[in-house]
Amino acid sequence: MTQKILVLPGDGIGPEITAQASRILAACQARGLDVEIEEGLLGGAAYDVHGEPLPAETLEKARAARGILLGAVGGPKWDRIEDLAKRPEKGLLGVRKQLGLFGNLRPAITYPQLAEASSLKRELVAGLDIMIVRELTGGIYFGQPRGIEERDGERVGFNTYVYSESEIERIGRVAFEMAQKRNKKLCSVDKANVLEVTILWREVMERLAPEYPDVELSHMYVDNAAMQLVRAPKQFDVVVTGNMFGDILSDAAAMLTGSIGMLPSASLNESGQGMYEPCHGSAPDIAGQGVANPLATILSVAMMLRYSLDAPTLAKRIEEAVGKVLDDGLRTADIASEGTRTVSTIEMGDAVLAAFEAL
Ligand code: NAD
Repeated sequence: MTQKILVLPGDGIGPEITAQASRILAACQARGLDVEIEEGLLGGAAYDVHGEPLPAETLEKARAARGILLGAVGGPKWDRIEDLAKRPEKGLLGVRKQLGLFGNLRPAITYPQLAEASSLKRELVAGLDIMIVRELTGGIYFGQPRGIEERDGERVGFNTYVYSESEIERIGRVAFEMAQKRNKKLCSVDKANVLEVTILWREVMERLAPEYPDVELSHMYVDNAAMQLVRAPKQFDVVVTGNMFGDILSDAAAMLTGSIGMLPSASLNESGQGMYEPCHGSAPDIAGQGVANPLATILSVAMMLRYSLDAPTLAKRIEEAVGKVLDDGLRTADIASEGTRTVSTIEMGDAVLAAFEAL
């Protein structure tokens, strides 16, 4: 059955990088991937046309799509929109919420060719391959009550950190299943020494563990996890954690790889429908210059093929093509180093496409 894919270029470098990823998608189509591809507006680009960051038309297309490929949203042009609900980021949050994309997969992979770009020593990061599974639609970012109010003559800010057992269980299952497909090690990160909500988190992970006897489950407090990530990151295989801890740890893990322009991500719901996007933002400082790194977006296409479209062979082919291009010494400016050849966004797209075809 033909599956629908929605491409949302977004703002800043978004259109430049999604254009290259779309070429790879088209090459997959030519190799038999049965998909219908359409485009839509999200973020600032949508605000400029429709006065809102997530127009009904985009949401409708998103609901119908099996996979959504997003560039990035936001930029200084829209930072002064007074109504916060109309800011570009709200468009992105809206899609996540409306589609129930609760499972955020953020791989942190250090390509051996780029190990020098990490702020850590080569031996600590070369060959690093961690998958962080972050709960995306619950926890303290969404818990009620929340607000800032006057109490006893001073202002008080408050948020609520809340997870139900079913929310923990569904992200737990995503993580256990991910570990089964990888090196069978799952580390659940919490703060069970202080926070009741994460005592429950730990209990649910323990309850699920016997159903996945091939997976070795361990637990770590979040402060220790932050420390271990920079001390000995290769000890981790799959990490599962809540929304806020995952937000912070996945950014730290991203930096271990030294190159934010290389990291894809996926956000999935229970039916396997997903939104795929690079981990970086819209990079307004380099937008329109043709120098942005398109590899994170191209690798996001590979994740889409693997997790939403059940086409792992084509996914692997894309990843191998990226590896080949790096082996050949081609680099966009953000990952360039001595002895490599600096190329533009389009030239990088050309090279990956050529490598993909040649494999
Ligand atoms: P950013 O990730 O856009 O940029 C940080 C730095 O990394 C910049 O110097 C940028 O030039 C560089 N960079 C990022 N991606 C790159 C790429 N593909 N190739 C080469 N260099 C790259 O983060 P920021 O500057 O904090 O945010 C800029 C805008 O992006 C803001 O409006 C922010 O809200 C938005 N943002 C959007 C998303 C998203 O759409 N998911 C995520 C983060 C930030």
